[in-house]
Amino acid sequence: MFFGAHLSSSGGIHKAVERAVDIGADAVQIFVQSPRAWRPTAHPAENVAKFRELKEAKLQGAVAHAIYLINVASDDPELWEKSATALDHTMRIGAELGLDAVIFHPGSHKGAEGGAASVADRIARACLRAIEAGGDDAPWLLLENAAGTGGTVGRNAEELALLVDAADEHPKLGVCLDSCHWYASGVDVTDTSAIDAELDVLDQAIGLDRLRAIHLNDSKMPLGSNKDRHDNIGEGLMGEELGHFVGHPKFQGLGAYLEVAGAGDGPRAEDITAARELHARWSR
Ligand SMILES: [Zn+2]
Ligand SMILES: [Zn+2]
Repeated sequence: MFFGAHLSSSGGIHKAVERAVDIGADAVQIFVQSPRAWRPTAHPAENVAKFRELKEAKLQGAVAHAIYLINVASDDPELWEKSATALDHTMRIGAELGLDAVIFHPGSHKGAEGGAASVADRIARACLRAIEAGGDDAPWLLLENAAGTGGTVGRNAEELALLVDAADEHPKLGVCLDSCHWYASGVDVTDTSAIDAELDVLDQAIGLDRLRAIHLNDSKMPLGSNKDRHDNIGEGLMGEELGHFVGHPKFQGLGAYLEVAGAGDGPRAEDITAARELHARWSR
């Protein structure tokens, strides 16, 4: 397993790689544009080249997280189109940057009757379009599991599998599992057998080779709370027991990306160290 962190790319997209190296991370996760605005960022070609060069020399992995505004589960055609366009754009830049994957939230059905099943085709359509937009070098597109807030889709293995299925099991469509979201949605990731049960569902439905990344975050909110509040490794409600997740045999070999606040500014060197040490204690 290698350890990454979600880091800022302010000052140029390549700066995120420098920040990852500075905190001793093996990998980086970035936004390719401001996460709270639709307007895409134009990245100068020299920054893109620097990103690739640095990443290849110094890191084991690099992924992008799509912006939070995206909701390709929406029944509002205008919002769906804006969302799909933003996802296309992220996949295109992901290909240019040589990323391993683009991770996104499948969205919310806002309580629609029929739940996740009623919006699966809509989400699948956006996924297939975005992978196509990425071209021959498209990164993997990963559906991230949801904390289950409101009508969020992808709250368990069954729902994630349903979405991959709706996209005809496209070979570049996979999943990313976030420990905090799983815990919030009611999957007790501090219990290896609970993780096993979910992974069995995924394995049987879509195959575990589609699991391409994990998000390693502790939680400020209790099991099943459906509230998504990340905490630093070792400081949240899971604490040491998060080791069941990071040390799980099926996750070894993947990149584990931290999306924690650190002291307020995002992951620090000590957060990466805490993750590595937790892993070392639980992966034996
Ligand atoms: Zn996410
Ligand atoms: Zn989260």
